[in-house]
Amino acid sequence: MPPLTATLRALHGDITTLDCDAIVNAANSSLLGGGGVDGAIHRAAGPELLEACRALHGCRTGDAKLTPGFGLIARYVIHTVGPIWRGGRQDEATLLAACYRSSLVLARQHGVRTIAFPCISTGVYGFPPHLAAPIAVRMAREHGMGLDEITFCCFSAADLVLYETALASGK
Ligand code: ADP
Repeated sequence: MPPLTATLRALHGDITTLDCDAIVNAANSSLLGGGGVDGAIHRAAGPELLEACRALHGCRTGDAKLTPGFGLIARYVIHTVGPIWRGGRQDEATLLAACYRSSLVLARQHGVRTIAFPCISTGVYGFPPHLAAPIAVRMAREHGMGLDEITFCCFSAADLVLYETALASGK
């Protein structure tokens, strides 16, 4: 019997270089590109990604949409829009959890077995990384069924420590 839940792992690296079925993009609601991980993914995938994103007509916060990966090693990019942190009382945690859940549901619908997430919302959108990591890990545990492996791709060593701590905790 295959395991019901995915293996979870965290690593320090650049998500555009990962060899997995899908990588997740922390996009903005226009889906027309931006800075940070979004810019890096568009640069690595090439201009066809922007054309594919135009056809999607944006994405709401907490939702996710899928495109091919074009020039990336990954077959798909799953674009999700994280919440902008406004102090924590504007449903930011619920919306961040929805990003992970929506991305995992969409991944499963497309037969994705291996997926990598960046630390959604914790860059320009200002979500405190130490609060975001446990949410990401909890959603992967609760919604990772049917996938083989879920990778948390940390761009900083400090984020990696947060994920290792969250993964080691049973909560
Ligand atoms: P947001 O607007 O959702 O906050 P950002 O792109 O500003 O998105 O930041 C999200 C996270 O992505 C941050 O932790 C940032 O350090 C990280 N990041 C930036 N570039 C890359 C990359 N090439 N690979 C993985 N993570 C990245």
